[in-house]
Amino acid sequence: MILKIVIMGPAGSGKGTMSDLIKDNYPVKHISSGSMFRDEIKQNTPLGQKVNSYLTQGILVPDDVTIELVRNRLSQEDCQNGYLLDGFPRSLVQAKAIEDLGINVVINLTIDEQLLVDRIVYRRLCEDCKTIYNIKLNPLKDEEHCEKCGGKLYQRSDDTYEKLMVRLESYLEETQPVIDYYREKGIVYDVDAGQSVEDVYKQIDEILTKIMEERI
Ligand code: AMP
Repeated sequence: MILKIVIMGPAGSGKGTMSDLIKDNYPVKHISSGSMFRDEIKQNTPLGQKVNSYLTQGILVPDDVTIELVRNRLSQEDCQNGYLLDGFPRSLVQAKAIEDLGINVVINLTIDEQLLVDRIVYRRLCEDCKTIYNIKLNPLKDEEHCEKCGGKLYQRSDDTYEKLMVRLESYLEETQPVIDYYREKGIVYDVDAGQSVEDVYKQIDEILTKIMEERI
């Protein structure tokens, strides 16, 4: 069966890390709407210019813009064997706009708020190889440079406490209806994201393996 996965969870719940592990082990293309927007901004495209202020403020880009971007991406060749949506859908309108695609698994990462604050506010990314670090939870000898490639580490402009609170509020308001919508379809699997990376992934792996076995 073709896996069409949505991974959900607030900023800092480890969506990015889990997505990397899933895409390395299952035949799915990882599609992150946030990364797509950040790439457009970096390349200074017309779309990038249009969405820049939304990302800087930590508020959602309008649905029509986001839906068009993601649907176009999913129609490309490399998504035909399966995909993993990360950061999309973030609203009921977005979820309904891809109803015809037949999402078959939703991984819902749940997490305690204080842990979330630590994970986000101390998060640093490598400019070059995009490795993600946390300078509080896993202190680095050199907080400025990537341990893997030596690239410069930076903090996302929306990874501050204030913007996290805005994003959390927006996440709860906009996304809870999406989770409820998928829950009614019986395809939501809740996973406690406060555990170690290994344990969280182990649970996800069990869920996906079971689904693939059941629905061949
Ligand atoms: P993320 O990397 O998923 O945390 O997304 C970063 C930012 O990109 C968000 O705060 C929004 O401004 C924008 N964004 C990403 N995905 C969506 C989406 N599905 N709908 C609206 N805005 C989005």
